[in-house]
Amino acid sequence: MSRISFYPGPSRVNAKVTEYFYDAYMEGILSENHRSAAFMKLFKKTKKLLKQKLDVPEDYEIVFTSSATECWEIIAQSLTAKASFHVYNGAFGNKWCEYAGKLGVETHAASFDIEDAVPIKLLSVPEEVDVVCVTQNETSNGTQVSDVELTILRRQFADRLIAVDATSSMAATTLPFKMADVWFASVQKGFGLPSGMGIMILSPAAVAKAEKLNENDHYNSLLFSIVNSRKDQTPYTPNILGIYLLYRLMEDRRPIEEINRKVKNRFLDWMDFLNKFDSWTPLVENESVRSTTVIPLKAEPSVIKELLEKASDAGFTLGSGYGEWKEDTIRIANFPSIKKKEIQSLRFFLKKNFD
Ligand SMILES: *Cc1c(COP(=O)(O)O)cnc(C)c1O
Repeated sequence: MSRISFYPGPSRVNAKVTEYFYDAYMEGILSENHRSAAFMKLFKKTKKLLKQKLDVPEDYEIVFTSSATECWEIIAQSLTAKASFHVYNGAFGNKWCEYAGKLGVETHAASFDIEDAVPIKLLSVPEEVDVVCVTQNETSNGTQVSDVELTILRRQFADRLIAVDATSSMAATTLPFKMADVWFASVQKGFGLPSGMGIMILSPAAVAKAEKLNENDHYNSLLFSIVNSRKDQTPYTPNILGIYLLYRLMEDRRPIEEINRKVKNRFLDWMDFLNKFDSWTPLVENESVRSTTVIPLKAEPSVIKELLEKASDAGFTLGSGYGEWKEDTIRIANFPSIKKKEIQSLRFFLKKNFD
């Protein structure tokens, strides 16, 4: 591998993908028809392993899409009769709201400060809102919505669907799947797989809503995907290589509690290490809202520029700032596929150049 990537997506792909790629070819699955028994078996095994390894409730359904962005649209088109409510503090939450609006959904939004918890008690959600939309891990600013907050949200909005964007945390941290109805992510972040695939995880209530709305106008209408998925099929030719890589990764993966512990410990180590420098400060001061998978640092724009350039020259790809934090932050990914020795070499570089 020529460069070491700490970019928070697309991120460093898992080192074992070379082996998985080779096996995918040799096993012949890439030349199989997607209606074949071989594909259906792969599809079934992959969904089963995802549930096992990520701790997804048995009665939830899984469908595959092509990206997290597509999941935003599917929620707007297939699960929203009239309106969605978006509570966010960063660029991805904001974009989700815009995408829903463009599809003709009536959108309501509440934004909050990056230092704050979700202001659940203050949310005034109109009667007609079908779906409450939350970004669990805001990749643009490195904040995370806690399990406790999601539990309170669940209680407060028991009669609505809750949809959660977990693009940069799924497969890297534990998630309280029971506390929401729609969970989704793309695979090029926490999973450490090549881009081009999304995963949508649906509660029985979400499936019931899709059935009730019976929206069937699109190639990616959710009900169409669910009905197919129940037969271990897909509405259209899927990313068979992506599904195969996911299958192999999940097969080799330790249970999510272990991964979560590793990510959390690495995060705490990172913060200890980074706090020793005068060149930057953590973007987010409030420790209780910090993401464990995306670490943003704030500094003078000139320092940010120097940091990105010098790191690049030394063979490291750091995450540039995003959205309103573009000029004065960098982001360091803390995903499980990054190797310990890669973290050590980035630390060595930072110490040598910025201490
Ligand atoms: C990266 C990201 C997306 C978009 O993912 P795509 O796979 O490019 O569609 C959406 N939401 C969050 C929180 C992200 O980090």
